[in-house]
Amino acid sequence: MSCLFCRIAAGEIPARIAYQDDQVVAFHDIEPRAPTHVLVVPREHVPSVDSIEARHGATLAAMVAAAQRVAREVGAERTGYRLVLNHGPDAGQSVDHLHLHLLAGRQLSWPPG
Ligand code: AMP
Ligand code: ZN
Repeated sequence: MSCLFCRIAAGEIPARIAYQDDQVVAFHDIEPRAPTHVLVVPREHVPSVDSIEARHGATLAAMVAAAQRVAREVGAERTGYRLVLNHGPDAGQSVDHLHLHLLAGRQLSWPPG
């Protein structure tokens, strides 16, 4: 298994886990861009947002539920937070395993760079 996030989800590569269940794993980004920067990944290898199919509906719901849960743990449901899915080179996608960024803990500029 060569995919970095598959290996983190399987516990083969260490990460600071924020939450996990049978469908998703949430862990702290190694290069945080905000006081809270957590990545939520499906345990299933889905390469990107462009690979999402109707059958992934429950997985996507579980990803959002995990992000919501972590956001509430840091009080970000009050202060605000952003969820981001990057696809492809123009968006700067650097890992080819679907990941939802949760960014919180500071004022986030809009539009993103
Ligand atoms: P993206 O640019 O949307 O593909 O996001 C990939 C994210 O993965 C970046 O924010 C990286 O800092 C993060 N990342 C890369 N390797 C690791 C790792 N081993 N543990 C945690 N986060 C990582
Ligand atoms: Zn993978």
